[in-house]
Amino acid sequence: MTERLRADPAGIARAARLLDAGRLVAFGTETVYGLGADAGNAMAVAAVFEAKRRPHFNPLIAHCLDADAAFREVCATDLARRLADAFWPGPLTLVLPRAPGSTVCALAAAGLATLAVRVPDGAGAGALLRAFGRPIAAPSANPSGGVSPSTADHVMDGLAGRIDAVLECGPCAVGLESTVLDLSGAMPVLLRPGGVPVEAIERLIGPVLRVAPSSTPMQDAPVAPGMLASHYAPSLPVRLDAPGPGRGEALLAFGPLPDALRETGLVWNLSPRGDLREAAARLFSGLRHLDDEGRAQGLTGIAAMPVPAEGLGLAIRDRLQRAAAPRPMAGRPAALLQRVVG
Ligand code: AMP
Ligand code: MG
Repeated sequence: MTERLRADPAGIARAARLLDAGRLVAFGTETVYGLGADAGNAMAVAAVFEAKRRPHFNPLIAHCLDADAAFREVCATDLARRLADAFWPGPLTLVLPRAPGSTVCALAAAGLATLAVRVPDGAGAGALLRAFGRPIAAPSANPSGGVSPSTADHVMDGLAGRIDAVLECGPCAVGLESTVLDLSGAMPVLLRPGGVPVEAIERLIGPVLRVAPSSTPMQDAPVAPGMLASHYAPSLPVRLDAPGPGRGEALLAFGPLPDALRETGLVWNLSPRGDLREAAARLFSGLRHLDDEGRAQGLTGIAAMPVPAEGLGLAIRDRLQRAAAPRPMAGRPAALLQRVVG
């Protein structure tokens, strides 16, 4: 059952309690309806990907109450502060290096060292962020590949029964996704055109590099394995669907470990009970752990046990395949390789 909540004090309080309990609440912003989860709760963020039936993990935008809250999660630059002053609250998303004290979980950022933050406009979104008190991770509240919703009815059409509540915030004023601007490199890069025209940004900060294919900015664009430089890949080679670790390999396990593997050295079990949501929630922290520890211990690879190709398992397998793929583009400037996969 998906509750429909009015954006009055009682509805807002209920929505905030649900988020706090790790549940999913769609809410309206000035751009489109977002499917919100506690950005600091990896299990809740995994449930977002599950509800959307997304076949891959892409980084989500952390929605924040104000610029102060946003700049606690990322390392602000002078440009970022000027843009925030001019356009927040509003349809502009900034990608910046994560702050050391960031509370956002690795899955919400798809394991990246950067994080996308935005301060949404709209009374409902603002009230929810104030009541909740922490960042809300939210992609658009539609099934993967579908059209972004601009009313609560659209959200229900696509996700009724798959999410806990929708906060009725009225029709979205802009109805277009946010402009996504990457400020993490030497030059600002437009990753997705959206509600704030890039010309308005350029008037304020000068030239912006355009790499987004403007014809398909909102689609789940298919990307070849290993091509997405914005996606985290461990430096140790990854071997897929391995029954167990070979010599010199760390083990990324899934499900109950067979007796023969109990004595194995470096292991990260995605989910000993074989739960795909738990596995998704632990995937990026696990890859990083095995990569860092494995190199420290002089290991030469990561063996990944099979994960079922269903539900969230599809996205987990997609991510592992990218991690295992050869990286022909390595060494090119990352910003030039980024593709929009919202
Ligand atoms: P959506 O989830 O549909 O609102 O789309 C979010 C957009 O922001 C997608 O195009 C993501 O690829 C992009 N995005 C979010 N975080 C990052 C990041 N750290 N680096 C690059 N792009 C990002
Ligand atoms: Mg989307």
